[in-house]
Amino acid sequence: KSGENPQISPEILKKHLEFTKGKVITRFPPEPNGFLHIGHAKAINVNFGYAEYHNGKCNLRYDDTNPETEEVQYLDSILEAVRWLGFTPDKILYASDYFDQLYNLAIILIEKGLAYVCHCTAEKMFEDRGGDSNGPRVACEHRDRSVESSLLEFQKMKDGRYKSGEAILRMKMDLEDGNPQMWDLVAYRIIYSTHHRTGDKWCIYPTYDFAHCLCDSIENITHSLCTTEFVQSRKSYYWLCDAVEVYKPVQWEYGRLSVTNTILSKRKLLKLLENNIISSLDDPRLYTLPALRRRGVPALAINGFVRELGVTTSKTTIEVSRLENHIRDCLNSVAPRLMAVLDPIKVKLINLGKSVDLEVPFNPRDPSFGSHSVPFTDTLFIDSSDFRLEDSKDYYRLAPGKTVGLLYAPGPITCTEVIYGEDGGVLELLCKLEDGADGKPIPKPKTYIQWVPFSPKHGSPVVLDEIRLYNDLFKHSNPYDKTIVPGGFLTDINPESLVTIKSAIVETGFYDLTFKFINGEATRKEFDSKNFEELRFQFLRTGYFTVDKDTHFDSSFIETCRSVQKCGDPVLAAASNKNKLVLNRIVTLKGDPNK
Ligand code: ATP
Ligand code: MG
Ligand code: MG
Repeated sequence: KSGENPQISPEILKKHLEFTKGKVITRFPPEPNGFLHIGHAKAINVNFGYAEYHNGKCNLRYDDTNPETEEVQYLDSILEAVRWLGFTPDKILYASDYFDQLYNLAIILIEKGLAYVCHCTAEKMFEDRGGDSNGPRVACEHRDRSVESSLLEFQKMKDGRYKSGEAILRMKMDLEDGNPQMWDLVAYRIIYSTHHRTGDKWCIYPTYDFAHCLCDSIENITHSLCTTEFVQSRKSYYWLCDAVEVYKPVQWEYGRLSVTNTILSKRKLLKLLENNIISSLDDPRLYTLPALRRRGVPALAINGFVRELGVTTSKTTIEVSRLENHIRDCLNSVAPRLMAVLDPIKVKLINLGKSVDLEVPFNPRDPSFGSHSVPFTDTLFIDSSDFRLEDSKDYYRLAPGKTVGLLYAPGPITCTEVIYGEDGGVLELLCKLEDGADGKPIPKPKTYIQWVPFSPKHGSPVVLDEIRLYNDLFKHSNPYDKTIVPGGFLTDINPESLVTIKSAIVETGFYDLTFKFINGEATRKEFDSKNFEELRFQFLRTGYFTVDKDTHFDSSFIETCRSVQKCGDPVLAAASNKNKLVLNRIVTLKGDPNK
């Protein structure tokens, strides 16, 4: 909370209270000129959260006053992101719906002698406002023109008789004030651009400084919550409401949120697109809300993260690891576990007679997740990172002559022989299953690793066409700081920000989970929407993953999922090249006690 509550006349207050019945009304006011990002998630939580806490209401208001930068495609994505975070706007409103009212208020302002049409260039205005040297402010020659002349000129602006830049409407404020927001701000400018709602009706559009407070006032917003860059604007906000004698909301400011190793500004994100560093604004390396959603980050983790930061006035850059901790916390309790191998090496068990079906839980710590059947076969795959040719004392996984545990398996395995391929690389490992059948004591393994069976009749392994691992997009925590990155953020791209893996495989529990998801989605008739990000897993010892929207589950895959559900044995339809499984790593397991 900052500043004193503004004074309002009793008549205006009475009308306001008739409307609100004393309840809090807030609004989230995005400009539809890009995707929302994690900073907006804070603004959404602040506005909706404050209203909810006080049993009030929060509107979504599109701040669509600049047709030059706004695009219709962003309207839907903004509403979808708000809903995805779990909030329901009381009303969905558009600043452009008030263009007539705003225009009438501009006329009132002129008639009161508190606005004038000015023909100065931007450079002249800058000089008159003291220029670079912070020198004295000078009134321009248009400031004292008559009310009649300004009314006439404003009409000409509206009628399209001026080119863009030839005339503006300025508020007549206080050039002596120490606050630059009082130095005759621009209220209206000429823009020849078709508006997504009002078409070509207008060629004059209100500025943020003019429109924002008056829209808040029209909507009877009780608390206009905004970021701290607007502290100085509080004065002009109140000035304008008072000048046209309308209801005046309270403005309170909170600190803007940024996170490290990324950028959020819409303009800079577009630069990444233009330079082909990313190919879409929902690239999972970004921190736009559509990108986070696509990556598989739960909305709950984002809300938890921004709420933990609290509402203070300090502008904060938060370590991205703090968000990751929230993501892990959320996923740990909801994501079923599967065994996957990103870089397989083949293991042959030399002494396994018949294969056995193991009942493997989807979460060993929580039986409510259920279980599924995994065949234990004489051929299986482990991850190459769990094998070394040279053993050492502090190494607990597989090496020649060494024993390691296989998760859920009937016993550990000992590597008895390494088979090399023609290229000299390791081709496969011959291992003995230590099940005690030979009467010898079973060695106790120090570590257990995941594995994936080879059993075509069970549809195993499930081949993942592509796994995408994401790392920080930028090398530096503050890529837009020119003292740290003199070449600018475009020169600071982390070459490892996207690592693509084409060799990964996963056990057949993947079918069970996909079936459940597809079946649920199909009944909701939303399967085509490709919101696969709800389909999340923990790959044991590897990380949390989700299905990317680039995935295509073809009919043969879906058939396989179905038959696994029905009889445990899939009838494998002919492989089709239309099937494409693409997974995103949401977050690593680092810091996860269950690892
Ligand atoms: P950008 O510079 O990315 O375009 P913006 O502030 O112009 O951001 P708007 O669409 O106007 O974006 O923002 C809608 C609301 O969200 C505003 O109230 C704004 O103050 C708030 N907001 C924007 N960015 C952040 C942020 N990083 N942290 C907190 N609130 C934010
Ligand atoms: Mg903006
Ligand atoms: Mg803005």
